[in-house]
Amino acid sequence: MAHGLSAAGIGITGSILTSCGALRTHHQATVEARRERVAIVGAGVAGLAAASALRAVGFDDVVVLEARDRIGGRIWTSNIGGHPIDLGASWIHGVDGNPIAGIAADNDIQILPTDYDNASTYFHGGDAANRSRDHVVTGFWSFARQHPRESLHALYDRYVNASNLADEDRQYLAYVLNTAIEHEFAADIGDLSLSSISGGEDWPGHDALLPGGYSQITEFLASGLDIRTGQAVTRIDYQGTEVVLTSAGGDRVDAATVVVTVPLGVLKEGVIEFVPDLPATKHRAIDSLGMGVLNKTCLQFDEVFWPEDVELIGHIGTKPGRWAETVNLFVYTRQPILMMFNAGAYGAQIEAMSDAQIKGEALATLADMFGSVAPLRNALITRWQSDPWSYGSYSYVPVGSSWIQHEELAKPIDDRVLFAGEATHEDFPATVHGAYLSGIRAAREVATYLEQRTRPLGKRTSSSRLLEQ
Ligand SMILES: Cc1cc2nc3c(=O)[nH]c(=O)nc-3n(C[C@H](O)[C@H](O)[C@H](O)COP(=O)(O)OP(=O)(O)OC[C@H]3O[C@@H](n4cnc5c(N)ncnc54)[C@H](O)[C@@H]3O)c2cc1C
Repeated sequence: MAHGLSAAGIGITGSILTSCGALRTHHQATVEARRERVAIVGAGVAGLAAASALRAVGFDDVVVLEARDRIGGRIWTSNIGGHPIDLGASWIHGVDGNPIAGIAADNDIQILPTDYDNASTYFHGGDAANRSRDHVVTGFWSFARQHPRESLHALYDRYVNASNLADEDRQYLAYVLNTAIEHEFAADIGDLSLSSISGGEDWPGHDALLPGGYSQITEFLASGLDIRTGQAVTRIDYQGTEVVLTSAGGDRVDAATVVVTVPLGVLKEGVIEFVPDLPATKHRAIDSLGMGVLNKTCLQFDEVFWPEDVELIGHIGTKPGRWAETVNLFVYTRQPILMMFNAGAYGAQIEAMSDAQIKGEALATLADMFGSVAPLRNALITRWQSDPWSYGSYSYVPVGSSWIQHEELAKPIDDRVLFAGEATHEDFPATVHGAYLSGIRAAREVATYLEQRTRPLGKRTSSSRLLEQ
């Protein structure tokens, strides 16, 4: 995932949430502005970042409404046999200057580097894919660069036919496109083009996992906030001077401004009625971005039966796009736990299968590579597509669409209905740090709006400036 944070972003992060434990609240928001109520819909990392940034600069009345009975959203640390396991985000993508790595460092949250080159890949039947086939992959990308707007699937078909690739090379290329592209963007290569996957930025540094769980980050952000769980917002009425939010149970919250951080999938499903309706540009952004699927199958065994020091295990099966990648969590936790991935259409398809069927396919894949498997002790299976508070895993830009749509999704309506969340970040969508930074951006917009609202002459005062430092 892309990261290359702007200097402004780093400054905001440092001043608000990491080095600003000692924020000087007495000279921040104006007295009038900080009395105003700010409603935030969603207690994922974007909503929590916005709320904690606003609290840090003196806004007293920040209410976070969350539909689930837990915070964190797509950051969700569960446990498997008593050991933390992340069912949503796992990695900090690029640790150098990444605000999430900064929060971890400031709070003594352990992170461990991961090395994707420390991998073993097996063909169907268990033969190691040890001959270098990099030339096949580089050849494909040179071809794709000549047709940047065409679907990668169409290009794959043309490339393998024109180059008359051997079966194993063709299977290897399909495997690389599945694990490196479809898992990354949570969408099939038929829905992606080179230009549709090339709009983001990469953050420098290696990637890292949090062995104690990603929720340590959201727990930190949530501390001291007014978070109301079990509040599924169904209506946001912004016709009057106050914004009125109604929840499924009939509860009502009036606020001066609202930050909507629900996932793109929830916006697509029309779960929230906006009154008046959202502008056409916003609907276009919602429709033209894609909400992808990446699902995890986490398995705890009695003992390790795979190469214990290899971080990634690849499987080039007879059916491309299925059970191709497994993370060996033993490397980081010393527990016999594997995390297997399925993305795109197959990731969505398995959601209709029973747990027993999914476990059966997972174990068959492992047996194909290693001959036999140890007894399975516990399993956790995600179904993000069917999750009514997400309707998918994260956003992507489909073939034919444009990265500009992330910016359109981020635009405020009437200055006081604001949008944050991973899908609103123009450089780092689909990531935790993108969601976090979008929340900080929304907090800045809230501060600016409220200071203008409470000071009619629009003189900018300290809280919005502080959020920009
Ligand atoms: C399987 C998976 C793996 C991932 N892996 C990584 C990774 O390794 N690294 C990485 O950087 N990113 C990863 N991501 C992406 C990352 O998790 C997200 O980009 C990020 O957590 C999104 O945060 P958010 O605040 O935008 O949205 P969310 O975390 O989804 O927060 C939105 C909140 O809104 C709530 N909500 C929804 N509807 C309503 C409603 N009507 N009323 C009130 N509340 C509502 C939701 O319950 C949720 O809590 C992964 C995601 C998934 C699903």
